[in-house]
Amino acid sequence: MLDLFNENDEKNDEYKPTISEQELSDAEVLVELKSLKEKLKDQVVVVGHHYQQDDVISFADYTGDSLQLAREVAKLDKPYIIFCGVHFMAETADMLTKPSQKVILPDLRAGCSMADMAHRHDIDKAWDFMLKSTKEKIVPITYINCAATLKAFVGDNGGAICTSSNAEKIIQWAFSQGQKLLFFPDQHLGRNTCFKMGIPLSEMVVYNPNKPNGGLTAEEIDRAKVILWYGYCSVHQGFTKDQVYAVKKKDPEMTVIVHPECSFDVVQAADDNGSTSYIIDKIKNAPSGSKFAIGTEINLVNRLAAEFPDKTITSLSPYQCLCTTMYRVRPRWLLASFRAILENKPINIITVPEEVKAPSLKALERMLAIK
Ligand code: SF4
Repeated sequence: MLDLFNENDEKNDEYKPTISEQELSDAEVLVELKSLKEKLKDQVVVVGHHYQQDDVISFADYTGDSLQLAREVAKLDKPYIIFCGVHFMAETADMLTKPSQKVILPDLRAGCSMADMAHRHDIDKAWDFMLKSTKEKIVPITYINCAATLKAFVGDNGGAICTSSNAEKIIQWAFSQGQKLLFFPDQHLGRNTCFKMGIPLSEMVVYNPNKPNGGLTAEEIDRAKVILWYGYCSVHQGFTKDQVYAVKKKDPEMTVIVHPECSFDVVQAADDNGSTSYIIDKIKNAPSGSKFAIGTEINLVNRLAAEFPDKTITSLSPYQCLCTTMYRVRPRWLLASFRAILENKPINIITVPEEVKAPSLKALERMLAIK
């Protein structure tokens, strides 16, 4: 997939590629990592998102999707949490941990192309226009894949955060609070979830921040039930409905499961869709001999294929649907984080400023409270 420009590159002043390949081979990195992890076991906990590469995941004490990791980090008590994921996840972890704990992102360039498609100043501008366009109450919901400043916007405006595991419940809650929904940054998760809940596409509009007033009239805002932000995941948007048809034509016994960040056409053509934990559970619980084509990030698909050799598990796409920003967390940067902690000079600490943290936490806690 494309390695898109990521705004986190600009925050990369602490990025220190301190362990060169001349200094240590990949194999030597793994050996030293094993030893430092043992040495620092009382101080450091490593968490890893499902889309991380295998060598990184092998050092994780906890693995999961965004919701599982958010719930997990809130319970941790070790002073250092090395977060093998992307920037917005480490920010979320910082907000959910105690002030005395430090959250470390091994490579500060590990961002998320979707999160970078919604900026606070654009959301503020859009909100202003939306409030002027309708008398109905709009409830803002943000997918967890966004910067903390956007979570703060949601917290300040009576909304909540969602993940792909709980989007339906959170949207239900939103409609108990108001008549309209503003959903950002991922238009696909918003559209797929709302459609599944019975809202027709004709009641949804897309706000494109690159166009004046998002490309919408005040009347269109007033008529819509759901306003979707024009954002998407560059990895999941790579799957197509033709890939679903091709897989089914080749082998009608194949079950196609895709992530709801895939486009509407793909989700409609697939047999099933759900978050990464849903996909994992489906495969785990399927009888031996089952066949799956999966529409999500390739590291997870390959790991599932290795874990369940009695089942046929392939990627829906013939191309490598790799999240290149997740992939930036390499074992040698994980080792650099461990070495820095050992020297008592931790690097790449993610800290959300207090004025952003308080309203973001409101939105996060609302999410965690909605069962
Ligand atoms: S897979 Fe997509 S949404 Fe997830 S971190 Fe990568 S770019 Fe962002």
